[in-house]
Amino acid sequence: MKYSELCQTYEELEKNPSRLKKIEILSDFLKKLKKEDNKEIIYLVKGKVFPDYSNKEIGISDKLVVKALSKASGLSDKEIINKWRKIGDLGKVSEDIMKVKKQHTLFSKTLNVEKVLENIRKLPELEGKGTIEKKMSLISELLTSANSLEAKYLIRTLLSDLRIGVSDGTLRDALVKACFSESELKEDKKEITDNVQNIYDTSSDWKQVFEKACKGVQAVKKTVLEPGKPIKVMLFLKENSISDGFKRVGKPALIDYKYDGFRMMINKDEKEIKLFTRRLENVTKQFPEVKEYVKEYVKGKTFILDAEAVGYDLMTKKYRPFQEISQRIKRKYDIEKLQKELPIEINVFDVIYYNGESLLNKPFKERRKIIEKIVKKEKFKIRPSEAIITDDEIKAREFYLKAIEHGEEGIMMKNLEAPYKPGARVGYGVKIKPEDNEFDLVIIRAEYGTGKRAGWLTSYTVACGDKDNLLEIGKVSTGLKEKESEGLSYKELTKKLKPLVSEEKGREVKVKPEIVVTVVYQNIQKSPTYSSGFALRFPRITRLRPDRSKSDIASLDEIKRDYLKH
Ligand code: ATP
Repeated sequence: MKYSELCQTYEELEKNPSRLKKIEILSDFLKKLKKEDNKEIIYLVKGKVFPDYSNKEIGISDKLVVKALSKASGLSDKEIINKWRKIGDLGKVSEDIMKVKKQHTLFSKTLNVEKVLENIRKLPELEGKGTIEKKMSLISELLTSANSLEAKYLIRTLLSDLRIGVSDGTLRDALVKACFSESELKEDKKEITDNVQNIYDTSSDWKQVFEKACKGVQAVKKTVLEPGKPIKVMLFLKENSISDGFKRVGKPALIDYKYDGFRMMINKDEKEIKLFTRRLENVTKQFPEVKEYVKEYVKGKTFILDAEAVGYDLMTKKYRPFQEISQRIKRKYDIEKLQKELPIEINVFDVIYYNGESLLNKPFKERRKIIEKIVKKEKFKIRPSEAIITDDEIKAREFYLKAIEHGEEGIMMKNLEAPYKPGARVGYGVKIKPEDNEFDLVIIRAEYGTGKRAGWLTSYTVACGDKDNLLEIGKVSTGLKEKESEGLSYKELTKKLKPLVSEEKGREVKVKPEIVVTVVYQNIQKSPTYSSGFALRFPRITRLRPDRSKSDIASLDEIKRDYLKH
């Protein structure tokens, strides 16, 4: 397939903000893609070259792109940077440059999608001496065959910033429209869509979803669970009281501690143990001790466990807040030292695969029995989550107080009959915690401070999600510490945000939406100032969420619900 065909589709998608129109455009493209042998091209639709479960990142910096553009066009780095400052998007800059350049080029090869995939895929493999040159030559090879439109999207793909507003939900709907006939959809569009979503949630691989959908209605009914590949976790709802909790999940319910740690999916196949976060990142190397605990204290040939990793203090044996152990998730060096300083305990609260069998559709009470059978309780190493089963509100309340006293965030109440739904936020369980007024939001812009804080980004515009869009919901400048030793400081946040800056205007910068923070607020007001139509009053950043991405942030619906509640 010609790369220009894909780029035309990108272009149309960028120009049409309407979700319905995007679905139509994309489904037309997917109809063409159905005829191709190489279904991996679908990764490029979302600006990727690897499946979502893969840990590989293209990892090309703005600097390298500037260099490659300079090589391809003959312009100096400085000239390109100046254009970039003005336009704010290196993709657009390369389009403009190539337009001019192409007038002088008499001959260039047609670029096809396979070549784009091939070259970009080689980039993360390169290491050691001469890496930069090799990367440059792979990129230059593509750029020299590219027309201006292709250059625009090549660069955006390299920078993982496609800017065409296609979410997973839009891709799913387009895929359904492209792969199933009108009569099939008339019969049961919802079921087909749910099944397609299910395959994505259990495989995190659009190629697999597309291949199955091409085979028809029966093929998408079967999900494939495979230990070793990360799957999307099930998420829960929020309730304000224990009685509301019982109303939602039924009586009796299982109630367990809501640990203040981070989600860890523990996968064991015949050969090895792998650990994933809820962002599908492979963190096996960062947590060698967990592998040992699993080997020693969990029975079974193959399994997938859902768990919360929680830090504790070696001296006091008290649990520590997530913030204190979060650095272990990303750390690539000094692993052993950190392991000693910041030990974690694994609390297993679900099992979705055991000895060759998927347990997704087994009722939770049976899954819990399996946990208790296979996970040996070894305090401060690994254990089934602390839980009771009760229909008594007083007992539930006592357990809640015990959890808080213990330093936990609150409790989870769970429906004993429910299946496990990967990737969905469903009412099969609810969380109940004392401090309710907080949302995870993503930083989309920031402002440099003045005086003593000059040179540091000290005020942040945060956004919630609404399908394919990010909507602003306020500016936050409090909650952060002056000194890095005191906790999350604006200096630390500045260091994290600076590499993500995509545009600069005066003191304000626009950043790629990658940094998720928890924002506590007093209440929500309607506001014309922000694109969400709401503003948080007295917002305060309380922590960084390196385990979250922009797909995990609060949705506009949740904000509305909270607004109506207060
Ligand atoms: P939060 O920010 O409150 O942790 P969330 O959006 O990450 O919420 P939810 O599904 O709403 O996710 O809340 C449950 C979260 O709490 C899980 O994602 C998990 O990381 C954590 N957790 C801690 N203990 C448990 C438990 N016993 N059972 C399920 N989840 C637990």
